[in-house]
Amino acid sequence: MSEKKELSFFEGVGYYTDKASKFINMEEGLLEQIKVCNNVLRLKFPVKGNDGKVRVFEAYRVQHSHHRMPTKGGIRYSEHIDQEEVMALASLMTYKCALVDVPFGGAKGGIKIDSKKESVDILEKVTRRYASELIKKNFIGPGLDVPAPDYGSGEREMAWIVDTYMAFNNGELDGLGCVTGKPVSLGGVAGRTAATGRGVSYALKEVFSFEDDMKALGLTAGLEGKTVVVQGLGNVGYYSALFMQQYGCKVVSIAEYEGAIFNENGLDIESVFQHRKATGSILNFAGATNLAKSSDALELPCDILIPAALENQITMANVENIKAKVIGEAANGPVSAEASEILFKKGVLIIPDMYINAGGVTVSYFEWLKNLSHVRFGRMQKKHEEDHNLELADLLEKMTGKKMDDLERKLFAKGPEEVDLVNSGLADTMAKAYVTIRQQWKEGNGQYDMRTAAFIVALNKVASDYEQMGIWP
Ligand code: NAD
Repeated sequence: MSEKKELSFFEGVGYYTDKASKFINMEEGLLEQIKVCNNVLRLKFPVKGNDGKVRVFEAYRVQHSHHRMPTKGGIRYSEHIDQEEVMALASLMTYKCALVDVPFGGAKGGIKIDSKKESVDILEKVTRRYASELIKKNFIGPGLDVPAPDYGSGEREMAWIVDTYMAFNNGELDGLGCVTGKPVSLGGVAGRTAATGRGVSYALKEVFSFEDDMKALGLTAGLEGKTVVVQGLGNVGYYSALFMQQYGCKVVSIAEYEGAIFNENGLDIESVFQHRKATGSILNFAGATNLAKSSDALELPCDILIPAALENQITMANVENIKAKVIGEAANGPVSAEASEILFKKGVLIIPDMYINAGGVTVSYFEWLKNLSHVRFGRMQKKHEEDHNLELADLLEKMTGKKMDDLERKLFAKGPEEVDLVNSGLADTMAKAYVTIRQQWKEGNGQYDMRTAAFIVALNKVASDYEQMGIWP
């Protein structure tokens, strides 16, 4: 395998789909239908800058599968984007949604632009133009296709998209559900921004709760004291690192594109984040040493490596130097298919992207439900629960003869805020999905890695949808 050119990201997804299909009794034609991307939209459109010059931008929207509707997936802003990359990401979205029981088909978008280098003005024009192209082509809508943030995009871009959509669809009752990851004031849901990183930490908590699995890796159960390396301090990397620190892990190194820093006693994530915000670089953080190269961080000995930047970060070029015991693929496709197989043989446990970073789409689903129901989660029951809890507190005091102080009564009575409900729904989703994937992995009896197990679970779910619907006509 090593003498050949490595598989592309898209080919890697296909490689694992084929591999998993060997453990499933599925008709060949159905597997082919599941693998292909149903709709691939390539766009070119002009945008005029403030200097009066017209520039032509390239963009994509790929809908991988329509077995469930709407289709769903983020929009990546990257100067390196191409059609294959968006196809790979759209395919992963289908399997990801199936794994966490989010009833969407997979999709993904991409705009060839470097959001770090462009002015806000250009970014807004390009985003609005992209949204209007999607509207024209029927590639966006609460029941059709629902984008979200991805690498290089965030709440701001989602706000521009929903505003553009509403301008073209004035009066559409469920219009806010055309995109997720919006600011809370514009129909977003509390907890969405942190959701992917939070989901990563919930997933790793589950993974580390199985004593036998950890023993096989030479680790103890539980996250307390585990050493962690994180690549990328963007949305997913920052929140993953923050929550791992809150679980008692030592985040010993963080890598960004400008370099990496190290402290064997652990870095304080919020301080590193503020340092980068103030100085524009992660380097020269007080109390940490700079590593020679950003990619050196990936090769540090650690219990958990969290690549949270981009795909193909661990490939045949550096796989032999990887010393982590567990890799949590917070980014999509950070380990190439070939490197993945080598790490599996070496006994490294890879927690696959399509499971570990599914927190984002899970909470996007909650946001979409909120938009369709037009009511904030908890609005109807919070006060009722608090009143009921206070009645229970009175009863308890009467039965025990012991009075609660004000703080105890407040804690006892507390009803859920929207963010509490969102986070508990996310925790439950990540835990349940892990149980299913782990069970499949164990059934493999060492024949395949956890990625293959996740593909088997996901393919079975998608195939079962197709089988129940029947193929028409
Ligand atoms: P982001 O743009 O917020 O952050 C990515 C960070 O990685 C940036 O700070 C960038 O400078 C850094 N980076 C880029 N190349 C690097 C390199 N070679 N070494 C070190 N750092 C590098 O993007 P994000 O939303 O955090 O997405 C990151 C990954 O997570 C992507 O693969 C994305 O598809 C995936 N993902 C994102 C979400 C989401 O909700 N945002 C959900 C699921 C998966």
